[in-house]
Amino acid sequence: MARYHIETYGCTSNRGESRQIESALRDAGHYRVDGPEQADVAILNTCTVVEKTERNMLRRAKELESETADLIVTGCMALAQGEEFRDEAVDAQILHWDDVPTAVTNGECPTPGPGVEPVLDGVVGILPIARGCMSDCSYCITKQATGKIESPSVEENVEKARALVHAGAKELRITGQDTGVYGWDEGERKLHRLLDRICTEIDGEFRVRVGMANPKGVHGIREELAEVFARHDELYDFLHAPVQSGSDDVLGDMRRQHQVSEYLEVVEAFDDALDYWTLSTDFIVGFPTETDEDHAQSMALLRETRPEKINVTRFSKRPGTDAAEIKGLGGQTKKDRSKAMSELKMDVVGDAYAAMVGETKPDCLVVEEGTGDSVKCRDSAYRQIIVRNATEHGLEPGDFVDLEVTGQNTVYAFGTPV
Ligand code: SF4
Repeated sequence: MARYHIETYGCTSNRGESRQIESALRDAGHYRVDGPEQADVAILNTCTVVEKTERNMLRRAKELESETADLIVTGCMALAQGEEFRDEAVDAQILHWDDVPTAVTNGECPTPGPGVEPVLDGVVGILPIARGCMSDCSYCITKQATGKIESPSVEENVEKARALVHAGAKELRITGQDTGVYGWDEGERKLHRLLDRICTEIDGEFRVRVGMANPKGVHGIREELAEVFARHDELYDFLHAPVQSGSDDVLGDMRRQHQVSEYLEVVEAFDDALDYWTLSTDFIVGFPTETDEDHAQSMALLRETRPEKINVTRFSKRPGTDAAEIKGLGGQTKKDRSKAMSELKMDVVGDAYAAMVGETKPDCLVVEEGTGDSVKCRDSAYRQIIVRNATEHGLEPGDFVDLEVTGQNTVYAFGTPV
């Protein structure tokens, strides 16, 4: 759980992006503080309209950099002119709006509020299936608040899912610190059984997105889980399995409980079962014990598995954790490794979205309104497709639509109804 400070500049659409960032941060258990000095991380949501604004943004980024532990720069100027911040040697992560919440999370699992009560937000139903995890990662502060996993029964979660769908949810988001260990406290991992029953027993047209599942928990049920994904169209073919490092030595120091080979076996099981799916993973760059060779192994793993969604987090210490006691790497080393991996990430993800151009994606779900007159849609593999001129196409959240992919912008695609 991090304390964050956020500043937003520019138009109403940029303020809307900040609201979405804050909503995701709140859902993940982070909280806002007054001023960058009290914050673990400051977020600068930038605007770029005229030259004077750009100078102001650069000046403000430098001020924030000196006032807070970590700085994230997002928004229009970050996306269009991110190199200006680098040229001015601003020590910040330059990110797309959608990537900010994960970067703030610093490699820890999300904390879905104080309990496991479902929430309906537009056409999105958020269903926390359990609270807590089975791990004890050395860098994690979330664990101190959430403790060991306690899993409600499958029946209870199916009923909550049914209530969300009946209340209007078209996208069910299955969340938890670690969805892959759901049921482990009762002696049996049963995420696959829960998903099967949700898809089989609940009437209605809806999609299900499964939230973060650590490789260790998924590994023991990888074949059963991949088979359930292949059998049900309701499930987005999307797996978020954060590997965090390509080095078993670093994974050991992180106390992650999985090894690289187990992560690879999970990916292999999904590759065998599904033709078109999205692998999402996370890397922590610059963990205190990470050597050059360890970093090279992480880069090699990213090249080998080519995930379509990648979160790169530059390690920062959370007070009270064991990792905070280890002498850290120099800031420049962390910065260089983070830059190298972020550039590789953009190549890998950009290739995945470029390969979609010209294809038709059936039954995409319109999930929410975007900026201007656009809507954000998700295809069967949870890839994001933006449709502009939504009013003209008569599209609104909750609709299903076949889309032809007409272009891409590295981390999302553009489409038009067919
Ligand atoms: S799995 Fe690790 S990072 Fe996630 S909540 Fe548990 S201890 Fe923290």
